[in-house]
Amino acid sequence: MTKPHLLGLSLAQLTDLLVGGGMPKFRAAQVWDWVHVKGVLAPEDMTNLSKGDRAVMAEVLDLRLPSVSVEQRAADGVIKWLFKMADGHEVESVYIPEETRSTLCVSSQIGCTLTCRFCHTGTQALARNLTAAEIVAQVWLARKALSDFNGKDAARKLSNVVFMGMGEPLYNTENVFPAIHILMDEKGQGFGSRKITLSTSGVVPEITRVGEELGVNLAVSLHAPDDETRTAIMPINKKYPVAALMSAVRGFKLKERRRITWEYVMLDGINDSDAHARKLVKLIEGIPSLVNMIPFNVWPGSPFGCSSPERIDAFAAILDKAGVHVTVRKTRGEDILAACGQLRSETSKRNTISLQYPSVVAVYGNEGQKTRVHISGDTD
Ligand code: SAH
Ligand code: SF4
Repeated sequence: MTKPHLLGLSLAQLTDLLVGGGMPKFRAAQVWDWVHVKGVLAPEDMTNLSKGDRAVMAEVLDLRLPSVSVEQRAADGVIKWLFKMADGHEVESVYIPEETRSTLCVSSQIGCTLTCRFCHTGTQALARNLTAAEIVAQVWLARKALSDFNGKDAARKLSNVVFMGMGEPLYNTENVFPAIHILMDEKGQGFGSRKITLSTSGVVPEITRVGEELGVNLAVSLHAPDDETRTAIMPINKKYPVAALMSAVRGFKLKERRRITWEYVMLDGINDSDAHARKLVKLIEGIPSLVNMIPFNVWPGSPFGCSSPERIDAFAAILDKAGVHVTVRKTRGEDILAACGQLRSETSKRNTISLQYPSVVAVYGNEGQKTRVHISGDTD
């Protein structure tokens, strides 16, 4: 039998396991504190544990961490990690620091079953779901590398987590939901629900659960306002068409002062006309919204090009004039990642799958004038 991984357990589960192995209950709480507050994983470094307690940990828990295959640091502070799992599969996480927040973009699956035509991950078959421990490990390792486990009052170097990496989080709810609960535990890493954003391509039956069970921010990869356009670029639209998606989102339990983020990748001549923009305005009418326009990152062999800057501005201006909050994503970490396409070709040569990392955006206000920048997917 494989042992459960320390990072994939809630405090209650960890306590049950350790107490079952013979450790006193209060010690189990201390182990949790070592791991999620102090950032210590090795039993031998947990100084208040007895020899016997350490033996219990080694006996009942899997304590292995993913290894770092690659760490690249950009001049602007962006860091990209390629983490290697115990079975050799690799996933990427990207850290994007900003003035007021710093975000880690994490992966939820190795590959993806959904074959969105503009997405490089979609060209790779699903290898497997990530476990809850592997998802939490991405955050834990990033915080460790950033020396971000400095006690509760230290200013957090990693304040936000977005599920915008490889994979569809709502096709792996059995691991993504527990991982999010672990990250949000106030006695542990304590990420508030406002600090976590889950991005979905529109897995309609699971959307309600995100609001009710997690209460985190929801980002929806809409990318087109009508079935014809959306089905042509996102096969999932055949299963869950725009109307079904919209009714799920309208039923989403949105907390006060929050909004839905709509991701909209700008594909030249495909979904970027004035008519598309006007349809989009109508479609989301009445929903507190932020439209996050993403210039398409061209990758070798991709069937699309990116809309021109003028087209992107014109599209944004239509939304803005209609009173819709809109942001346009900008690229960060260019010196290490170059354009996103290069990141992808580089990683695919290594037979890995790269992610769409979120980056800084220009926020439109005052009739299309760019006024400030912040991270996409975060509605704080
Ligand atoms: N599977 C989830 C989350 C991961 S993808 C989802 O689809 O929402 C994160 C975001 O990057 C999605 O909005 C996705 O549509 C977008 N994306 C994928 N490939 C892209 C590309 N080549 N250029 C720009 N955005 C892309
Ligand atoms: Fe999967 Fe999201 Fe890429 Fe679509 S955009 S293939 S859902 S990772």
